[in-house]
Amino acid sequence: MIEVTSGTASGADLLVVPVLTDRVPGSADGSMPNLDDFESLLDAKDFTGKKGQTQFIATPDGPTDEVLLVGLGDEVDDEGIRRAAGSVAVLVCRYATVATLLHHVDLDAADGAVVLGTQLGAYRFEEYLSEPKDAKFANLVLVGAAADDSVAAASAIADGVILARDLVNRPAKDKPPAALADIASGLSLEISVTVYDEQAIAEKGFGGLAAVNAGADEPARMVVLEYRPDDATSTVVFVGKGIVFDSGGLSIKPAAGMETMKTDMAGAAAVLGAMQAIAELGLRVNVVGITPLTENLTGGSATRPGDVMRAYNGKTIEILNTDAEGRLVLADGLALAAEFDPDLIVDIATLTGACKVALGPAIGGLLSNDDDAAELVEKSAHAAGEKFWRLPLEAEYRPMVESEIADMKNTGGRFGGTITAALILESFVEEGTPWVHLDIAGPARADKADHYITKGASGFGVRTLVAVAAAVAD
Ligand code: MN
Ligand code: MN
Repeated sequence: MIEVTSGTASGADLLVVPVLTDRVPGSADGSMPNLDDFESLLDAKDFTGKKGQTQFIATPDGPTDEVLLVGLGDEVDDEGIRRAAGSVAVLVCRYATVATLLHHVDLDAADGAVVLGTQLGAYRFEEYLSEPKDAKFANLVLVGAAADDSVAAASAIADGVILARDLVNRPAKDKPPAALADIASGLSLEISVTVYDEQAIAEKGFGGLAAVNAGADEPARMVVLEYRPDDATSTVVFVGKGIVFDSGGLSIKPAAGMETMKTDMAGAAAVLGAMQAIAELGLRVNVVGITPLTENLTGGSATRPGDVMRAYNGKTIEILNTDAEGRLVLADGLALAAEFDPDLIVDIATLTGACKVALGPAIGGLLSNDDDAAELVEKSAHAAGEKFWRLPLEAEYRPMVESEIADMKNTGGRFGGTITAALILESFVEEGTPWVHLDIAGPARADKADHYITKGASGFGVRTLVAVAAAVAD
């Protein structure tokens, strides 16, 4: 993590200066480089302030030896500042201490946006490098800022996103369900954790989780995290898909399709990251996190296509494609969620390739049985800077998942795959409970770096879940 302080630019190795297209460098104050010189600098470098334009300039007479100009375009919003800060964090890797004026724009939460974008952009996953890469950037100075709440909040959220990224980036071999359950147990003193081991999973009747785990040597875990602050009146339950590795099971994936399947626990990672942040922020809302954790492998006792499992609420699913396993573990998680008397259930899962085909790598799918709940989550996600697009929970497609021998089957075929998956999930949500399903198969990992997105795990969903909890909080 980058150490964030407030102060002056003196002593820093570089000063970051935002420039809008009308060449106003944010809201100019005494800490700006001399503005006459500044105009001529812009002219000399043909710097227009176009969005995304950046330029290092030597400033021997300035407060620092070098300045980095950052173009913000005509106007900028919170997400624009986060992204600019993320891009800057990558550009400044060879400077140890970077002073910034990026928060000197006309936005309420600009300080927090700069901190969040910086932390996420500077993120690196180096657990497996014998020698860490040479990155000096370690200190960020917010010039002239008061240490306000938005900085503390942004730091808590950044920690949560980075936890999720670390967990997703870690190889499956090094994050078996039991290890992830231990991590969940150690998240926060404010969070109480119940772990169901393989024996308890069998006794409780978490049949979906058991069916997916049948082909794996590492035993499954069902983890329930509870954050219950004093005087909270509302309860939201988050359910996160935690497939530590998805080979597809006996309906095995092609080799290339397996390369990134350590990512299939990104929903559970998002729940853990969000709950850590929510506890750190002290939001006044009861939050329950449920993460069914298992690998989906092909051992001798693996579930066969045609087998039938019985979920925690007694409903049965005929498993025709063992690669459609996320819905099986979520069935148990959603059924368990009902016991916490939730005002809102949100599940989050790398559930369907169909969703990635439909919406691409930057946008998650959102489906819901309740328009108000859908709107609350959409607005929360938008404010947090994450993109979701609502798809219909189309009742007309229910026959696509009808089974001849069980209550339903686990796949509805190629077409409308995101919708039919959500229709299966809906069967495990207690009627009348507002529920939102988030399919993050696309945005959970990035093929390339962009602004504060680093290559690999994105931590997508953490910020939305935190914002949802804040929206529901008293
Ligand atoms: Mn699968
Ligand atoms: Mn999967």
